[in-house]
Amino acid sequence: MKLLLVEDNPHLADEMDAFLKESGFVVERAATFDEASERIAVYQYDLVIVDLGLPDGSGLDLITEIKQKETDTGILILTARDAIEDKVSGLDLGADDYMTKPFHKSELNARIRSILRRHKFNRSNIIQLAEIKIDLLASQAFVNEVPLSLTKKEYDLLLYFMQNSTRLLTKESIAEHLWGDHIDQANSFDFIYNHIKNLRKKIIAAGGKNRIQAMYGMGYKFTPDQ
Ligand code: CA
Repeated sequence: MKLLLVEDNPHLADEMDAFLKESGFVVERAATFDEASERIAVYQYDLVIVDLGLPDGSGLDLITEIKQKETDTGILILTARDAIEDKVSGLDLGADDYMTKPFHKSELNARIRSILRRHKFNRSNIIQLAEIKIDLLASQAFVNEVPLSLTKKEYDLLLYFMQNSTRLLTKESIAEHLWGDHIDQANSFDFIYNHIKNLRKKIIAAGGKNRIQAMYGMGYKFTPDQ
């Protein structure tokens, strides 16, 4: 799951960044309106956390930009305690939820997971395609009822494929999803190949089918119907 954290307070941003990474998210950051706007235009995010008070613009305008992209990106707004009107405007513009600063980390995590559940998995904690199932709360994948022992990256990869079932995922988009934009892409393509190979092996060893098809020269696709 890839998040964009838009927050101009460096101390708070560092703290949230560390916590979110610990919680298993891939996190990218923007400290200004312009930076955030550029990232939103270029990259895809599962969720954007938007501080409304930015030095060079309003987070409210970022919400509009996210909504204009017509992707299924969740939006969580951060506001100061006294900014009730902003909060209401943000929700009107299509934000999913808000948090008032200061907040507790566990609350942040709970709200993010609830938004992602709503957007990606129709409010369910279970996602199942053919014989493969993922329990999101336990972060555990199964083939039929056989639990898979996956690394963090393999789990993220499988989840990404299942979220985007039947869609062609390019190596670029997979690399971006798993590592953010902090890694040399040419290098990461070998990693992807190896992670997919291992993931497939584990699924097949547990009695599943080879559902991650390589589309030669283009990328990979998860095929539940074969
Ligand atoms: Ca701020």
